[in-house]
Amino acid sequence: METEKWTDTTEALALLARQRKVWPMAKAGYEALDNVKVKRLHIDGLEFKVQYNPARILSSGAKTDAQSLRERPCFLCPSHLPPEQEALPMGERYLLLCNPYPIFPEHFTIASRRHMEQQIYTSFSDFLEIAQHLSGFTLFYNGPQSGASAPDHLHFQAVTPSYMPIDEEAGLHKGTPLLKEEAGAIYRLSGYLRNGFILESGTAERAASLFKHLYKVLPLAGDDTEPRMNIFCRYGEGRWQVIIVPRKVHRPRQYYAEGDEQILTAPGAADIGGVFITAREQDYEKITPELLRDIYGQIAFNDAGINRLAGGEC
Ligand SMILES: [Zn+2]
Repeated sequence: METEKWTDTTEALALLARQRKVWPMAKAGYEALDNVKVKRLHIDGLEFKVQYNPARILSSGAKTDAQSLRERPCFLCPSHLPPEQEALPMGERYLLLCNPYPIFPEHFTIASRRHMEQQIYTSFSDFLEIAQHLSGFTLFYNGPQSGASAPDHLHFQAVTPSYMPIDEEAGLHKGTPLLKEEAGAIYRLSGYLRNGFILESGTAERAASLFKHLYKVLPLAGDDTEPRMNIFCRYGEGRWQVIIVPRKVHRPRQYYAEGDEQILTAPGAADIGGVFITAREQDYEKITPELLRDIYGQIAFNDAGINRLAGGEC
């Protein structure tokens, strides 16, 4: 059996520095990010960074229906990576890659070595282990119907800590524990416009079993393969903190509107984290606190909604 090799945070940063030198696509992507427009908006004391990032048109406009997926070469499969793209090992089952269309100053994708469905129930323990090796970064997961642009290929992302407002704000909106024991706890995240749950534990085993407990109370829609959600994870001082934000829909009605009403948005973890991505300048200019409140109200659960989900089970 191949020796298990893991890439750590320092090696990941060195990879990014190398890729920016030798891979023109990554160089262009990160230079473009240095020049993106960002406006800060506030709603009820919460911060939102609206980013105008034209390169994200590929992602915001991406077709993720089954047929479109079948007809495109999968950009996360090792055999399709561009020759300049370097891949470092994250254990035996994953590879660490630089994202050439970054939203964050440091933006990595951790992709399964095998082409297999985006699915959290069976990969949550991997997610925790990866977060531990990449301690210092914020890790996140986009569900297949909640912002993943490659729902057919299992992957996570690792990004600059504290860039998303949720990294600092979640702790301020952590309610009393719904479930607390020596090895871990689940708290409600509320009063937060995109509410959810915060899970904390010092052992990966307990964190995983608490997550599975929570997973079972989340609603499963129609033909979906799993409850819709975005997940954030950080590891530090021997503890995991995991934020689970259940989703109602992937895209708000403004995406489907025509003419002046339309906003091209495909909200994923970054948007839920408070970095709202727009790929067209007219959309960027249009975004106001009122519009954001409306959009988050459509895609995520309000206080009453999260209380209903939490009711009984936890
Ligand atoms: Zn693939």
